[in-house]
Formats: sequence, C-alpha cells, structure tokens
Amino acid sequence: MSWKLWKKPDERAKEEYDKAVSLRNQKKYVDAANSFKSAGDLYAEAKSFDESKRAFILFFLYYAAANQTSENLLKLSEYSGNLNQDVVLKVPTDITAGDLKTEASLLGREKELLPQFDNKSEPVASEFERLATDMFSLGREEFYLKALIDNAGESPYLKGYKLNGLASMIRAEVVILEDPSKAAEFFSQATSNFQNAEIRQFEEEIQDKTRKISVVTKCWFCGRTIQGENSQFIYLDSFITKYMQNKVEKEIPPVIKGSQVVSCYSCYSSIHNIADLVAKEYYEKAKTMIQTVRSEVLEYIKQLNEAVKELQRYSHTH
Ligand SMILES: [Zn+2]
Repeated sequence: MSWKLWKKPDERAKEEYDKAVSLRNQKKYVDAANSFKSAGDLYAEAKSFDESKRAFILFFLYYAAANQTSENLLKLSEYSGNLNQDVVLKVPTDITAGDLKTEASLLGREKELLPQFDNKSEPVASEFERLATDMFSLGREEFYLKALIDNAGESPYLKGYKLNGLASMIRAEVVILEDPSKAAEFFSQATSNFQNAEIRQFEEEIQDKTRKISVVTKCWFCGRTIQGENSQFIYLDSFITKYMQNKVEKEIPPVIKGSQVVSCYSCYSSIHNIADLVAKEYYEKAKTMIQTVRSEVLEYIKQLNEAVKELQRYSHTH
C-alpha cells in the first residue's frame, strides 16, 4: 500500500500541484497537464474548491499548450470563466482568470475562423470583422499567452488589421459580379489594412484583381459598355482584318485587344450555348454515319467469312 494514502487529500493535492508546476517549468506540458488534473481532483476531494478550479484551469491551459487546437483553446476559455475573474494565476507570468478567458477565446476563435476564408460570404466577412474589433479592444500590444500558444506570438493589433483586411477581401469577392466599383473599394480597404498589418502576401493578387475589375470596355457583339475583366467580360480569340483593326482600334472604350475581341458574359454564353447545340448536332450526325458504316463493314466481314468457309470446304473435298 502506498504511503501516499496515509496523507490527507489536501497534502496530496499540494504535492501533486507542486509536481505539476515543476513539470510545467521543464516545459513537459502533457505531463504537467495530467498532474494539474490529478491535483484538481484531490483538491475537490479535500473540499478546497477554488484551489481545485485553479488546478483545472491550469490543466486546460497546458493541455491546450500541448495540443493547440481551436477546440482546446475555447474549452480553456470556457473553463476559466468558472473562477473569480480577478484571481491571478502564474503561467508562469501573472495572468488573471479574466484575461486568460479573453485571450484563449480570441486565439481559439481565430484558429477556427481563418480556414473559413475560402468560404466567401457576407456572414463569414462579418465574423472576421467582429473578431478584428475584439482583437483591437484587448488594447494591448502583446498576448500574455505568447510564450505558450503559437498564434499568440503576433500582436493583437496586427491580428486586428489582418482580420479586417481579410473581411474586405471576402466582401470584394462577394460583390464583384454585381458591382465591380464597390469591389474595387473593398480591395483598396483590404490593401490599407494589410499595409498596417505588415502583410504582403495578398499584394499581387489584389493589384491584379483591382486592375481587372477597373477595365472598362465595350462588347464587340452587343455594343454595350461594361466594366470588369473576367467578372463581366472576357476576351475571345478572333481573326481581325487589317481593315477592321484600323476602323476600331481608336474606339473608346476599346472593343478589341490585339487579335481578341471583347465579349460580355451574356453574349459569350449565348455564343457558347449555340456552339454547343451545333456541336451536338454534328456529333449526332457523325454517330449515325459511323453506325451505318459499322454495320456495312460487319455485313461485308460476314460475307467474307462465308466465302472463306466455302473455299475451305471446296479444298477438303478435292
Ligand atoms: Zn454583349
């Protein structure tokens, strides 16, 4: 029987807690988390409920430090709400339960939200913007958790600008089909936010998209003025005679680009659909022709086979 069992639960809890702290100091976060959890159970057994909650918060914290998923960070935040928010925890720097709750929530939400960037919709954009506002309202240059959680290394302000930039990029993509000028405005907002966040990753993409959506041309086919390359119109390969080129090359807005003509999406899709129908008709015709030829060839082979058999029979009998 272990000698430990002869000790009182609060003594064993204290021992387990000290062991957890020592493991934490050696950066053995998984082992530290497990010891904080045992200490939490022992404190509860000893009816020291605040001590127990404190140990459990540290369990959630080091568990999240070892497995940095959005889920673990959000659980840590939720659990940190169980203790008086002014209680100071040593992690090992001092942090109040309230700050721990806020920071873990921000970092967890960020981890959860960033992969949503490809889901271009207004609700997602609003979510990015809301999180940006919450990052700014933290009002600090640094996270207390920066030594423990990787995505806490970046300043909350930079995160705020980055998230606002991403929100504007999503909004630009959402409106690009209905309102290219509005999309250009959103791209320019994104650019200034990314400059503040010192992020250059999207610079080229935004420049390229902004240039394309601000191109104004006229459709070669229907003559309507349109704005927005790739979103409202495309260029189609064509053969433009010298005569035609001389005639139209000075037109503003332009209807050609080199040997290509401008086509709005309505004209393009009509041409595309008609071309599809024509191609289908030819395909059906070709299929029927091939079937006819095939049955003729099969019939011919059959006749040849019979002729060969006839010859064989003839050679056997002679
Ligand atoms: Zn057109």
